[in-house]
Amino acid sequence: LTPIVRASQSSTERSYVMIKPDGVQRGLVGEIISRFERKGFTIKGLKLFSCPAALAEEHYKDLSSKPFYPKLVKYITSGPVVCLALEGPGVVASARKLIGVTNPLQAEPGTIRGDLGIETGRNVIHGSDSPENGEREIALWFKEGELCEWEPTLTPWLRE
Ligand code: UDP
Ligand code: MG
Repeated sequence: LTPIVRASQSSTERSYVMIKPDGVQRGLVGEIISRFERKGFTIKGLKLFSCPAALAEEHYKDLSSKPFYPKLVKYITSGPVVCLALEGPGVVASARKLIGVTNPLQAEPGTIRGDLGIETGRNVIHGSDSPENGEREIALWFKEGELCEWEPTLTPWLRE
């Protein structure tokens, strides 16, 4: 798949972050988005979305041979998700740190999964694992015209 929505020239990196259906159902959307905003990343895309099975399957295609894959696709399509395109220097690794490791019981307190989850199968949130996958996933989940090209006026207060 060719990315149809490109990163702005000024920026270095983008991550696809998604609040999974349990996070939406539990009313954690504001709390989670707030953590990324306060960290200083720029929201370039944001939507509530009911994900078709084919998209969940494509997103997680690398895991298609895993025994938990059918349940994973069912989980992701069990209710609306919140899709985020975040931009900023080092956003991919930093978002993964803010999110915490896959199993919420092993995730450090202070991380999203560490603070807000109990089970791997209900771990509240997704974050891209590489800048390449960040681009791949943003192109997968957002259509052309759904991302906003903008620079926050706060940038000089966040970056030298
Ligand atoms: N997952 C699961 N059981 C497992 C491993 C993973 O249900 O044993 C789910 C979980 O929702 C996880 C997603 O599959 O977030 C993707 O797995 P991955 O190993 O890529 O973890 P992540 O990158 O999300 O931390
Ligand atoms: Mg992963």
